[in-house]
Amino acid sequence: MELTQPLTDMQTRLAAEIDARRDDLTLLTQELIRIPTLNPPGENYRDICDFLDRRLSKVGFQTELVRAHWAPGDCEAYPRWNIVARREGNRPGECVHFNSHIDVVDVGKGWTTDPFGGELKDGKVYGRGACDMKGGLAASIVAAEAFLAVVPDWQGAIEISGTADEESGGFGGVAYLAEKGYFKRVDHVIIPEPLNVDRICLGHRGVWWAEIETHGEIAHGSMPFLGDCAVRHMGAVLHEMEQTLFPALAQKRTDMPVVPEGAKQSTLNINSLHGGQEEIPRDSTGLPSPCVPDSARMVIDRRFLIEENIDEVQAEITGVLERVKAGREGFSYDIREMHRVLPTMTDKSAPVVTTVSQAIRETLGKDPDYVVSPGTYDQKHIDRIGKLKNCVAYGPGILDLAHKPDEYVGVDDMVASAKVMAFSLLTLLGPPQTP
Ligand SMILES: [Zn+2]
Repeated sequence: MELTQPLTDMQTRLAAEIDARRDDLTLLTQELIRIPTLNPPGENYRDICDFLDRRLSKVGFQTELVRAHWAPGDCEAYPRWNIVARREGNRPGECVHFNSHIDVVDVGKGWTTDPFGGELKDGKVYGRGACDMKGGLAASIVAAEAFLAVVPDWQGAIEISGTADEESGGFGGVAYLAEKGYFKRVDHVIIPEPLNVDRICLGHRGVWWAEIETHGEIAHGSMPFLGDCAVRHMGAVLHEMEQTLFPALAQKRTDMPVVPEGAKQSTLNINSLHGGQEEIPRDSTGLPSPCVPDSARMVIDRRFLIEENIDEVQAEITGVLERVKAGREGFSYDIREMHRVLPTMTDKSAPVVTTVSQAIRETLGKDPDYVVSPGTYDQKHIDRIGKLKNCVAYGPGILDLAHKPDEYVGVDDMVASAKVMAFSLLTLLGPPQTP
């Protein structure tokens, strides 16, 4: 079976236009990497927004800089700036929105190149944020610019946003824009996160963070029988989890195409555990005072599947606690929800999915793989606050390199994904195609 039709004239010209902009795409990626937008604390957001403003204004985008006042972390030293750029076509039609986060995570150790140098070596651009996700942002910009140069008559609108704080939850970025109604005028969203050029990410698993506290009674450590040890109570909780909860979670499998394979089941991470006195700093020579802990706290990070609902997820944990309580004298607990994100998965028949799939076939000559992310990303806000289901993540770069030393993005990958994005624009906004 033949996967693809021969390219149309317009597609051939669009592909050639992107090939001609290869050096420009490389340079743009380097320039973006050279603006160190570290989060935390949220540095240079205004600088990168100004840079994007200049670039996109030149090709006729109307731009808007939006500061997320009162978002977590927003302050005079580290304002949470975002940019939303919009270019209207000749006629009314649908709006395609490319959303990229502008922040990058801490550099860490082990680099052999300058993390903010944007060095080009053997067809790869190196730097913090190269694949996650300044390469994707650059590819979407060049895709839009090539589309504007080649296709004079088109309908609808193209939007490109650069948003803050994805790496810390996206509350000063996409969540803020969604709350302000920016996604009401949008029909299709592509998030160019580094998912590999031939994969479309449909969504992510759910998240439930909670803190469990067990209570005890303080007493002198030489006479623990006069108190009640909260840490031993927490030990009983962990024991019950090992006996019943972890085996049950391992049995739950999803039909979501989650990668990697291990994340196709429900998972629970014990994020932290603390009981009794504050820990003594490693460099201190002081000794603790002998006390029976009257409190122990544990933070859990439960990732759940689209087949599970959040009430069951919570009931499972309270079930563990109630079973311990029934069999253990003096046991009492509190549980507090810290954070929740429901799982989301865009339907494979959604227009943005079928469009990007077809563009991958035309560009790469193969069928795309559909994947779901084990962790969440900004799609959660577009889904929950923006009420828009027609959203995917698609972009250049290798996911495993994100947040690692010597992070890079391949120039060939960026060129290929820019073609996929431009072909998608052509399908969604271009003139009716003649074979
Ligand atoms: Zn990212």
